[in-house]
Amino acid sequence: MPNRPQDIDILIVGAGMAGLAAASELRRTGCDVLVIDKGRGPGGRLASRRIGGATFDHGAQFLTARDPRFAAAVDRWRTFGVVEEWYRSFGDGTEGHPRWRGKPTMNEIARHLAREVPVLLEKRVVSLRRDRNRWVAKLESGETFRAGAALLTPPVPQSLAILKAGESALPPRETARLDSVEYERCLAVLTVLDGPSRIPPPGGLSPGAGPIAWIADNQRKGVSGEPAVTIHATAQFSREHWDRDRYDSGWELLRAARRWLGSAVTEFQIHGWRYSRPLRVEKSPCLVLGQSPPLVLAGDAFAAPRVEGAALSGWAAAEALKKVSLPADR
Ligand SMILES: Cc1cc2nc3c(=O)[nH]c(=O)nc-3n(C[C@H](O)[C@H](O)[C@H](O)COP(=O)(O)OP(=O)(O)OC[C@H]3O[C@@H](n4cnc5c(N)ncnc54)[C@H](O)[C@@H]3O)c2cc1C
Repeated sequence: MPNRPQDIDILIVGAGMAGLAAASELRRTGCDVLVIDKGRGPGGRLASRRIGGATFDHGAQFLTARDPRFAAAVDRWRTFGVVEEWYRSFGDGTEGHPRWRGKPTMNEIARHLAREVPVLLEKRVVSLRRDRNRWVAKLESGETFRAGAALLTPPVPQSLAILKAGESALPPRETARLDSVEYERCLAVLTVLDGPSRIPPPGGLSPGAGPIAWIADNQRKGVSGEPAVTIHATAQFSREHWDRDRYDSGWELLRAARRWLGSAVTEFQIHGWRYSRPLRVEKSPCLVLGQSPPLVLAGDAFAAPRVEGAALSGWAAAEALKKVSLPADR
C-alpha cells in the first residue's frame, strides 16, 4: 500500500545554502517547513569528503561576505565557532575581502543551519504536480508530500526537470528564460599525499594559467589532519574532459600540479560538478512563479554565483513566501 501523503505548509527542495537559509528564516517566523535533499548530508556544493584520514573541501573553498545581512550571519557563525577567517591578503601583500572558511570544513556551515530545521535526506524529489490548491511532490522512494507552497533550490535545470516531470507547465516566457541558464562544469581532484605539499601560505592559490583554476592544501587550511590537496580544473578543461576517462584526466591535472605537490600521490579521487557556478545570474534574487498555490525558484543563479548569493536568494524566497497567503484547507 502506498504511503499516506504527508501535508506541510512549505516544502523546500534542496538543503544547500539557499534552501537552508530560506528554511531557517521561515521557521523563525513559525512556518511549518520541510526541506528534502537527495544527498547523504546537507550542504549541496558546500561539500566535504574524507579519504581515509584525509579530509577535503571539494566544492566551495571559502565564502566572502559583501552584503551587510550576510556579513551579520557570518559574524554569528563566527561566534558559534562555525567559521573563521582563512585569509585576506595575498602573497604580494595586497588586501582583499576576508575569505571565511568553515570550521573544521565548509560543510559544517550547512550542518549548523540544518540543526535548526527539519531536513529529510537521501530522498530525491522526482516530480512536483499541482493538485487544486496544493503542490504534490513525488519522491523516488514512492513517498508523496503535499504542501501549501513549494520552493525549489536545486540548480535551475534540475528544478525545471522536477516541474516538467509533474507536468507543471510554466509560462512560455519564463520557460525560455530559465532554459537558457547555463552552468560551468568543474572537475575536482582530491589528492592524498605521503608528505606535505609545497602550496605556500595561506594554503590556496589560483595559478592563472594552464588547466588548474584553484589548488588548495587542506592540511595547511586546517581542514585535514593528513596531507590532502584539492585541485579544481578550469571551466574549459572540465568541459573538454567531461566525457573522457576520469582517471586519465585526474593524472593530467596532477602532472600540471607537480610543482605544488612536493610529495608523492598515494591516492586520488575525481569528482565532477556538472553545475558548478551559473554563467549568468537572473535579475531578481528569486523567481515567484505562481500564487495559487505559490511556487518559488531560488539558488545562486538568482543572486550571485557564490555561497553568499545562494543565502541572499534563499532569504528573498522566504520573504516572498511570507507575503503570500497559504491555502488553509488541506
Ligand atoms: C567546485 C566549486 C567551487 C566553488 N567555490 C566557491 C567559493 O570558493 N566561494 C563561494 O562563495 N562559492 C563557491 N562555489 C559556489 C557555491 O558553492 C554555490 O554558489 C552555492 O553553494 C550554491 O548553493 P545553492 O543552495 O544555490 O545550491 P546547491 O548547493 O547546489 O544546493 C542544491 C541542493 O539541491 C539538492 N537537489 C538537487 N536536485 C534534487 C532533487 N531532485 N531532490 C532533492 N534534492 C535535490 C542537491 O542535492 C543540493 O543539496 C563553488 C562551487 C563549486 C562547485
